[in-house]
Amino acid sequence: MPGFEVFGKEEKKEIMDVLDTGVLFRYEFGEQRQGIYKVREFEKKFAAYCGAKHGQAVTSGTAAIKVALAALGVGPGDEVITQCFTFVATWEAIFDSSAMPVFTEVDETLNMDPADLEKKITERTKVIIPVHMLGGPARIVEIKAIADRHGIPVLEDTAQAAGCRLNGRHMGTFGKCGTFSFDSVKTMTTGEGGMIITDDKDFRRLMSEYHDHGHDHAVNPGGRGGEGRSFIGFNYRMMELQGAMGLAQLAKLDDMVACQKKTKAVLRRAAEEIPGVSFRNILDPEGDSATFFSFFLEDKAQAVRVNEILRQNNAGAIAFGENSWHFYPHWEHLHANATLSRCGWPFKDQDGRQRVIYDPAALPRSSALLDRLLVYQVPVHISEGRLEEITSAIRKAAKA
Ligand SMILES: *Cc1c(COP(=O)(O)O)cnc(C)c1O
Repeated sequence: MPGFEVFGKEEKKEIMDVLDTGVLFRYEFGEQRQGIYKVREFEKKFAAYCGAKHGQAVTSGTAAIKVALAALGVGPGDEVITQCFTFVATWEAIFDSSAMPVFTEVDETLNMDPADLEKKITERTKVIIPVHMLGGPARIVEIKAIADRHGIPVLEDTAQAAGCRLNGRHMGTFGKCGTFSFDSVKTMTTGEGGMIITDDKDFRRLMSEYHDHGHDHAVNPGGRGGEGRSFIGFNYRMMELQGAMGLAQLAKLDDMVACQKKTKAVLRRAAEEIPGVSFRNILDPEGDSATFFSFFLEDKAQAVRVNEILRQNNAGAIAFGENSWHFYPHWEHLHANATLSRCGWPFKDQDGRQRVIYDPAALPRSSALLDRLLVYQVPVHISEGRLEEITSAIRKAAKA
């Protein structure tokens, strides 16, 4: 799964280009930078790779969601719908935009259930954020059709699905925009970093200005100090070293996915021997980025039994039904309204009134599903010996 596995001389070369000029900042330093604009080049190449018109680099995948929500005009009183199986970052960004996250069930795609989405749309819904979890697509075509019917923009949280395609089209290009993360464990990494892709030039410009303290990015003869501002912004700027890393990693992305697909196919063949097993619904196996291999057992008891045997054989799988970073029932800080804000915001308003209650038992179908799910992370590189160890553990579990 992670790009850190392939860090090598290509990354070092790109980084040395930057160190040789000493210009770490994406803007200005005209002469000194000798024509080197790594972040800008990374934005162009990443967007082109995905088949999008524009890319906006930022400091993280969380910042990418935040910046996109800002450019979509999201604020107090708004609701943003996302799914209950995602990394906490998705809804942290929603809260940070002063809006309220609303969570849907997930289905066998392990992503947003369109039928539940339909039920959760209200007149306050301003954005819908399906997440392409574990390298596989959400039912984005159905979700987009529902959103269009209600006139609501779709932001695709594509943090975990760089290189994933659905019917030949990259994830992140179906909605208004797609956001990516390049943190240390993602399919491609820049250490920390993120990107938003979109086809909408004006929208890109709002994001570009917002992420840079509101600097107007019209060509300005006065240089940065002379640039005006049309609205207040923030600082989510990516630096040149990250852009350099991104260029080297992007060039390796398709090869990483190809390696993962081979390993994943081997794991799947072994798991097919488990009685009653079924597999995550990957809508387009051809376009799978294969960063994870996910399978369902018949019930929770069987999942626990199987994983116990896998663990005993040094090949324990991830049980996301129990995961406290990725699954709603275990976000105890959300349920407990834990916040640093003295008045209790965003759970309470400034007069101490409760604004929202998040019930840990609110999404029973997803719990029933994730309780019988087991997942392996698929590395880019794996030795024959280790792969053999995992597949023989799976075969032992199948016979038990
Ligand atoms: C990693 C991740 C993010 C956040 O990315 P960071 O770069 O770590 O801020 C957002 N959403 C999902 C689904 C993620 O997995």
